Amino acid sequence: MEYYAREETWDRERIERTQVVRLKNTLAQALRSPFYKEHLEAAGIRPENVAGLGDLRRIPFTTKEHLRAAYPYGLVAVPRDELVRFHASSGTTGPPAVVCHTQDDLDTWADLMARCMYMVGIRKGDVFQNIAGYGLFTGGLGIHSGAERLGCLTIPAGTGNTRRQIKLLRDMKVKALHIIPSYALYLGKAVQEEGEDPRSLPPAIALVGAEPHTEEARGRIEDLLGLKAYNSYGLSEMNGPGVAFECTEQNGLHVWEDAYIAEIVNPESDEPVPDGELGELVMTTLSRRGMPVLRFRTRDLTRFLPGDCPCGRKHRRLDRIAGRVDDMFIVKGCNIYPMQVEQALMSFREVGENYLIILDNEDGMDRMRVQVEVRGEYFVEDMRALTSLQRRIASRLHDEILVTPKVELAQPNAIPRTEGKAKRVEDRRAGKA
Ligand code: AMP
Ligand code: ZN
Repeated sequence: MEYYAREETWDRERIERTQVVRLKNTLAQALRSPFYKEHLEAAGIRPENVAGLGDLRRIPFTTKEHLRAAYPYGLVAVPRDELVRFHASSGTTGPPAVVCHTQDDLDTWADLMARCMYMVGIRKGDVFQNIAGYGLFTGGLGIHSGAERLGCLTIPAGTGNTRRQIKLLRDMKVKALHIIPSYALYLGKAVQEEGEDPRSLPPAIALVGAEPHTEEARGRIEDLLGLKAYNSYGLSEMNGPGVAFECTEQNGLHVWEDAYIAEIVNPESDEPVPDGELGELVMTTLSRRGMPVLRFRTRDLTRFLPGDCPCGRKHRRLDRIAGRVDDMFIVKGCNIYPMQVEQALMSFREVGENYLIILDNEDGMDRMRVQVEVRGEYFVEDMRALTSLQRRIASRLHDEILVTPKVELAQPNAIPRTEGKAKRVEDRRAGKA
């Protein structure tokens, strides 16, 4: 097995021993920031109180609200002139949650990212196209720096302009690309609409992430584009991409536990859940000086996959993200996650690439509608076939979510796409707008 970093060969004992040392260092560093000085002192936590990973639980959680309240520099733990980069997390209203990095922080991040890419077969000299926003969004510069660190010829393609993206993939003989899953499907379709086979595009590897997607969606991306798609997980508060990544086994995402501590807790009781059970991911940075973050409540739902990975790495694996704690919506008393809907929809070969869940309220009654695009070749079929499809989708959804939504079939590309991360739910119910 070829590794990018020696940390990939560490056994559990080595990983956990390092985590304790780095956790103590991180605590000491965090105490230099105004926010943690107060937050940790209030809880009576000092580095010397931490003897083992068991003491982690005594450290109070950090939430997105804490980060926002400390906007912009409250968590910074170094003199201001050591900071060289600023990012912010996406999709927020009000003050953003910002993250500031020193040059060392950026170097570590680039190495972590390069490690992910190497793990799935990307090598120095390969051409890499980064189809991601190059603004505050960390999928742009974060992935970019990893690719350069590895020695790839890196194309900062940015988002949009699908035609040009496709041309670059072809002309530059791109070996690997980074793309969000909803756009990957769109891009494949766009090639088909030009009368070409998207499988003939050069890339053999795609890094897909930044938004929740199902195993079914991954399968579709791989079939459509004729490549291997690897799930890439990260969040700005923990740098961005490069936190957890699938190996070639495609069976869970290894968390780089030499750089982070991952915990999974019950979002209501805050207690750790047993391995294999779904809960909220809580993350701690171990190698960041500019802005250490301790026990951050990610709001992302996942579980640890039990057992060892055949690839040999001992870094624990996370299951693909099932959704966000705040993604859940309730219809007629049933708790529903968008990914349950996606899973049901994508199991129909007639169903196209885009869908939207619309919730509204009529006479005090919740109503759920699912708009779903049908693939071109099926949309031309007769009414009877379409009505039957509608019925089968509704019944399949009922099996999955215990509510029977109204299913509305749409033509390909009829449902508007959002720039960046896909928006899957529109809640128009009173008080939810
Ligand atoms: P950002 O605000 O841009 O830092 O986005 C981070 C969030 O994007 C995470 O907390 C997740 O909710 C989501 N995300 C990132 N990568 C993935 C992934 N591979 N699968 C599912 N959700 C993801
Ligand atoms: Zn593995």
